[in-house]
Amino acid sequence: MKINKLLVANRGEIALRVMRTAREMGIATVAVYSEADRLSPHVKYADEAVCLGPPPSNQSYLLGDKIIAESLRLGVDAIHPGYGFLSENAVFAKAVTDAGLIFVGPGTHAIEVMGSKLAAKDAVKDYDIPMVPGIDRAVTDPKEATEIAAKIGFPILIKASAGGGGKGMRIVENPDELEEQMQRAVSEATSAFGDGSVFIEKYITSPRHIEIQVLADNHGNVVHLFERECSIQRRHQKVVEEAPSVILTPELRARMGKSATDVARACGYSGAGTVEFLVDANLDYYFLEMNTRLQVEHPVTELITGIDLVRQQILVAENKPLEFTQDDLKIDGHALELRVYAEDPNNNFLPSVGNLQTYRPPRGHGIRVDDGFEEGMDIPIFYDPMIAKLVTYGENREEAIRRMQRAIHDYEITGVATTLPFGQFVLQHEAFVSGKFDTHFVKKYFSPEKNNGNEEEAKVAALLATQILNQAKPMNTKTNSSESKKSKWKQRKTIF
Ligand code: ADP
Repeated sequence: MKINKLLVANRGEIALRVMRTAREMGIATVAVYSEADRLSPHVKYADEAVCLGPPPSNQSYLLGDKIIAESLRLGVDAIHPGYGFLSENAVFAKAVTDAGLIFVGPGTHAIEVMGSKLAAKDAVKDYDIPMVPGIDRAVTDPKEATEIAAKIGFPILIKASAGGGGKGMRIVENPDELEEQMQRAVSEATSAFGDGSVFIEKYITSPRHIEIQVLADNHGNVVHLFERECSIQRRHQKVVEEAPSVILTPELRARMGKSATDVARACGYSGAGTVEFLVDANLDYYFLEMNTRLQVEHPVTELITGIDLVRQQILVAENKPLEFTQDDLKIDGHALELRVYAEDPNNNFLPSVGNLQTYRPPRGHGIRVDDGFEEGMDIPIFYDPMIAKLVTYGENREEAIRRMQRAIHDYEITGVATTLPFGQFVLQHEAFVSGKFDTHFVKKYFSPEKNNGNEEEAKVAALLATQILNQAKPMNTKTNSSESKKSKWKQRKTIF
């Protein structure tokens, strides 16, 4: 089942990122685009390109049937969905395979099960996977909900089963608020996802969001590629990610890795996927959900493992066995990712669409920029306002942080407001630098005033951060033998 021609059913940076690997593998590429993206780099990069329609996603990137019809017309063998859009749509995945094409992703069953938080909990219950205390079925009756909440103990979280992207979640601090919050959650879930099922979970007060990358083939092999720390979030959306996490010991990493591969096994997973966990202050971890696609933040894993995840996705889709075993995988160095959004941190992170009058990404050793824009382009209002993923790699966390600070400094963007200054705020913050933070970092520490704080304050913060950096011990203490230095050098050369 060799793939000779691949259509990427996506846009922007992820479409480009997938096509680059396809080209390295000798696979011809087809781009799709909306009228707003006619001049986008992903369209220029592809060997062929098809216009799907007007800018709104439901008239272009979400037209599954049209994408399949165009694939058949152009002699495409496989469709890669990227993330977002149709990537976790089981009906689309099934239609692709029914049309005789390869869907670069897991089977329909896994997408369906993991697409529902309740079905996911149910699917993994035969495995010994720690779950957030709560119920594993939908509730509709506020009275019943109150009884359940009393048993679990406040604060609790009402969650939409079909939820995603941080939507459909409500924290309830005490019983008096429960009924009202539940009604709101149900109506929010109904309008956002067309499914009003909600359930109740214990609200973990100071959690870290840690996820494990998994890879599975169609021959029974499942491995994990370690963790990504994604606790720096705003409105439950990730903004800074890193690998590895400072809080994981090798023992905890192995346990969470085992749980993640069990989750993958529980749904017969195939391809690249991510199992998300919350880790509390006692380092107890709980399964949250599985994302059945390539994640936005996958580059940090690629940098610390040297593995191209898109290449692995394609090989698995071709029915090949994994090229490595768990024992072949190791963590080398440290990587950070900052999502650079066209959003204004001084104005509640509202989208700041407009023209990229200046656009000069940083360069140099240990820097990877995955973007989908060029200088002079407009940022369309129709899609997610992410401009780029700025990724830095270092021998250890300190080096990766310094490099990220330098890269943010060197990034030149004018014409739109971006989250770059916010990134610098995070990267210089003592709590981030010392590794002592949780998912409330932004809420706890960030305000536009602090971001724009007087210069003296900023200098003190930067100085403090530098002191912490200088005091910190390197995380990955390696042997000094010339042989290990040599092999590391070799590996790093292949990474960049
Ligand atoms: P979504 O599918 O909308 O992304 P998730 O279940 O993955 O929802 O949760 C997203 C974020 O919401 C988590 O990273 C965490 O910050 C917060 N969260 C989710 N569940 C809990 C919980 N039980 N306690 C505390 N925070 C939670």
